[in-house]
Amino acid sequence: MQALGLMGGTFDPVHFGHLRLAEEALEALGLEAVRWIPSGRPGHRDPPLASALHRVEMVRLAIADQPLFRLDVAETRTLDETFTINTLHRLRRELGELRPLVMIVGMDSFLSLASWRAWQDLFALAHFAVGERPGFMLSAQTMVGGLALEYARRTAEPDAVQRSPGGAIVTFPMTALDISATDLRERLGRGASARYLLPETVLAYIRAHRLYR
Ligand code: ATP
Repeated sequence: MQALGLMGGTFDPVHFGHLRLAEEALEALGLEAVRWIPSGRPGHRDPPLASALHRVEMVRLAIADQPLFRLDVAETRTLDETFTINTLHRLRRELGELRPLVMIVGMDSFLSLASWRAWQDLFALAHFAVGERPGFMLSAQTMVGGLALEYARRTAEPDAVQRSPGGAIVTFPMTALDISATDLRERLGRGASARYLLPETVLAYIRAHRLYR
């Protein structure tokens, strides 16, 4: 059973940083596919600006050309706040206990892990694959709240994600792309160009629906 990648996020809007993160994880870790899981109402951050419906449609457009990218809209169908721990329990119910699952995260997300709900329980459900992101690095100073200890205990080579259902933390190099949704929202808000930072189809959707203005 090949490992399945999970790409969670608000995708407000989705951009080339997200797409390269998923693509490079797919390649570096030999994943069977990557399931994109837009969050509905994320429990641990400010509410997204665009509605869940729009964010889902933007992800759908962004991943349309890559057959190994799949869309999972379940989180956007509930009015409850969404937490990764609940997502992983749902996926285990659907996919069984044995399939290796890999949460793909950028380094900034990984460094905030100790503030996620029931974070230490996440490792029993999935591996973590951490992609490098400009401006962020793993060190004793940046890994706070017990994360450094967990990292030391679980760090492994990338092929570890194929050998068990979960529990390892692996890092992989990623083409540095200093693109963020926050910056994109700000650009779009002041009517500046966002071209070449996200797929043209997504940009056309944003224009058509007058998002982020
Ligand atoms: P925001 O600026 O609104 O916080 P974001 O651009 O960081 O958004 P999210 O939807 O919060 O995007 O992120 C989803 C996942 O993608 C997270 O794991 C995040 O670390 C990762 N990610 C986002 N942008 C990049 C990037 N440029 N390089 C590497 N990882 C990224």
